[in-house]
Amino acid sequence: MASPIRAYLNDLLNDVRQIEGGEVATYIPELAKANPASLAIAITALDGKTYAVGDADLPFTIQSVSKPFLYGLALQEYGRETVLKHVGVEPTGDAFNSTVMDEVNNRPFNPMVNAGAIAVTALVKGESYAARRQSVLDLLSRFAGRKLKFDEAVFRSERDTGARNRVIASIMSQAEMISGDADQILDLYFSQCSVLVSVRDLAAMAATLANGGINPLTGQRALAAEYVHDVLTVMHSCGMYNYAGQWSYEVGIPAKSGVSGSIAAIVPGQIGISAYSPPLDRFGNSIRAIAACKRIVADFGLHAFRSAPQSSAAIRGEASALSVRSKRARTASEREVLAREGARIGLLEAQGALFFGAAERLVRRIDEVLPQVDWLVVDMRRVYDIDLAACTMLARTYAASRKGALIFANARDPLREALSSMAAPNTLFADRDAALEYCENALIATDGAHTGASRLSLKSIDLFAGSSAGDLQALERLAKPFSFEAGQHLVREGEVGRLFFVIAQGAASVQLNLAGARTVRVATIGAGGCVGEMALLDGSPRSADVIADGRVIAYGFSIEEMMALSETHPRLLLTIFANLSRDFAERLRAANNEIRSLGN
Ligand code: GLN
Repeated sequence: MASPIRAYLNDLLNDVRQIEGGEVATYIPELAKANPASLAIAITALDGKTYAVGDADLPFTIQSVSKPFLYGLALQEYGRETVLKHVGVEPTGDAFNSTVMDEVNNRPFNPMVNAGAIAVTALVKGESYAARRQSVLDLLSRFAGRKLKFDEAVFRSERDTGARNRVIASIMSQAEMISGDADQILDLYFSQCSVLVSVRDLAAMAATLANGGINPLTGQRALAAEYVHDVLTVMHSCGMYNYAGQWSYEVGIPAKSGVSGSIAAIVPGQIGISAYSPPLDRFGNSIRAIAACKRIVADFGLHAFRSAPQSSAAIRGEASALSVRSKRARTASEREVLAREGARIGLLEAQGALFFGAAERLVRRIDEVLPQVDWLVVDMRRVYDIDLAACTMLARTYAASRKGALIFANARDPLREALSSMAAPNTLFADRDAALEYCENALIATDGAHTGASRLSLKSIDLFAGSSAGDLQALERLAKPFSFEAGQHLVREGEVGRLFFVIAQGAASVQLNLAGARTVRVATIGAGGCVGEMALLDGSPRSADVIADGRVIAYGFSIEEMMALSETHPRLLLTIFANLSRDFAERLRAANNEIRSLGN
């Protein structure tokens, strides 16, 4: 199937091609050679997938689009404070090549206009001019994800005719805004402007900024994450020169244009966009490239401040232990406690990206539910991202909560770290099941029901409930004592079942083996529960592993001997089968309830 995005971009290309007007830049003579009809658009996703249409591989010089990347380098090398001494962050409202400076602070207004960019270029580190030139090329190549080259003809052309930039540099030299050899600084600046790129490259460079500084094509970091938003902010307010305000208003995403006719624009966290067409408007911005960006942003609603509300979706579902249980198999008396008192264990399932707005909803709901329950499990399994604000709020909620009441399952590392200094031992559980099991045990313990005490009497085993004294005596004669250490198998998947066990002490987990050596616990069976009883029903091999959690004392019964009992004690097997069926029915109902209250 043809990609709908590619098809969209092709349609867009045809529409934009109809737009007339503009002049190709001629003040750098080499640029005047550009074909005004050339046109290309590209989008790069954050996994590196690039959609490119038109003259997508046509090389052109990067010009001013290099400025944000060099600004990023300066921030990374010197830090914010030092860089701010050399260049401000105020929009000028003046042309890109204006000689107006911020005289109060004795610095150019911002790094997106020529003066500011020259001040930034003056900060490039390197032993020699050649080393600095190489380091500029390496920087831009890191962003593009491939080795870029200079267009030496354009470089020479601009050096020979760059009178305006020489004026700017000499004003800054005189005012001591830049130090060192001004001609050499200008040569480096002209070099950076003469690096050859295509829209593919610019889309990748933009996507690197959208991706927190990591190039999506190479996986390599091009800029330290902490400076990405500085660069984007300045692009947003100053990237389109004296059209920047209107651009923010109409298009509303950080972008940078250059006189060769290109624009690189960023939708943070989503995509990098680039468009190229040489004819420029009076601000020096490409007319068709602006139109293309405008359309993409309008068609897909990408304006930075056009955010859709998503906070209310922070809570996916709510339940209690009345409907959702751990996979721990429970005896009849334990089940009775859970059915009666289950509302005392609450469950909140969080979802999505937890940033400030979403986390506010979640902590507000936690505060509402917490007083109504003894334990509240907050399951974070479906939270795919959690930011600093969310961690801080959840940590504060935890700190203010009743001791032992608030429990997290599947918490991600940032939250674990935020809680690490204060989390009590039973606060963070690897999964919901383990958290619920802990709460159920605590609830059953407060209710006085026995959770794991040794029980020798077969009468109290649910599977045998209702059997006559005579039948029980016959059973007792068949019981053989077994003991297992932690990690030992009571039952092994795939084996033929000859025994089934009644657990007298300890607990064992039923484990399924999944593809790729992964395992999943489907149940835990404690004292009074049975293991391997399915072998009584059909002769099929064991359906799962059952492994002792700790030391387990169990009674083993031979299936063959049990079956033989039907000759002398016909009611016994009937009772056992009736109990087994009831147990299956209950488990099925529990599964239905869980699906009903939380979905999948
Ligand atoms: N090299 C060009 C100059 O300094 C870059 C300007 C631009 O792209 N707007 O004039």
